[in-house]
Amino acid sequence: MRKPLVAGNWKMNGSLQSVSQLAAGIRSGCADIDNVELLVCPPSVFIPPVVQVLAEAGVAVGGQNLSEHAEGAYTGEVSADMLLGSGCSHVIVGHSERRALYGECSHTVARKFMAAQQAGLIPILCVGETLEQREAGNTLSVVAEQLQAVVNAAGLDKVTEAVVAYEPVWAIGTGVTATPEQAQEVHQAIRSQLGAEGVKTRILYGGSVKSSNAAEIFAKADIDGALVGGASLDAEEFLKICQQAQTND
Ligand code: PEP
Repeated sequence: MRKPLVAGNWKMNGSLQSVSQLAAGIRSGCADIDNVELLVCPPSVFIPPVVQVLAEAGVAVGGQNLSEHAEGAYTGEVSADMLLGSGCSHVIVGHSERRALYGECSHTVARKFMAAQQAGLIPILCVGETLEQREAGNTLSVVAEQLQAVVNAAGLDKVTEAVVAYEPVWAIGTGVTATPEQAQEVHQAIRSQLGAEGVKTRILYGGSVKSSNAAEIFAKADIDGALVGGASLDAEEFLKICQQAQTND
C-alpha cells in the first residue's frame, strides 16, 4: 500500500557541472526502476537545472531546507513558494545538521513543516536521537517528543500526510548504520504514535545507507524507503539502492 520512496540529500556538495552529470546519470538509469519513487534534494541554487534534467524522467526534486516565513526581509532564506516555483515537490525539514549546526528547535521545525505544507510541498520530517541519548535509553522518548512537537503544531492529520525520516544522528555520515531491528523498533513506534492514519505514512530510514546494506533495512515491515546522504552522490550507487527498495516492495 505504501509505495517506497528513496530520497537523496546532496547536502552542500557539487558544482553546476557535477550535479548536472549526477542528475543525468540518474536519468539514464532510472527507467528500469518500477514501483519506487525517486527524489533528489540538490543545493537550492542547483534546483532549476536539476529539475530540467530529471522532470521528464519522473524523478522528483526537493529542497533541503526552507524558511518558516512566506516572504520579506530574511536575507539568505528561501521560501516554500520559491521551492515550489522552482519545480520542487518535497522539502526536508528538521535534518539533524539543521538542528545541531543552526540551532533549529522543535518549534522552528514545526513552523517550517507548516510553511511547507501550506504552500503545497510535501515535508520530509527528520527525527532521531544522538548516541548519548541512545546510550541513556532515551531513543524512543526523544523521537516521540520531536514528532509530537510537529503533531501539536500542525495537527496529526497533516503529519500523517507527510513523510517522516528516522535518522539516528550517530548513523549520519559515520558509516555506522542502525541494525534493521533497531530501525524497525523506532519506525514501529513512530507509526503507532501516528494512530490509525499512520498506516499510510511513509517512514524512511536514514543513516549511512548504501547498496550493500539497503536490502536488509528495506525488508523490515515499517521501513518504506531511505533518505540517503553520501551514497546519493554517486548515480550508480543511488540507483542500486533504489533497486533494493523495488525488490522488497
Ligand atoms: C543524511 O544526511 O540525511 C544522511 C542519511 O547521510 P548519510 O547517508 O551520509 O549517512
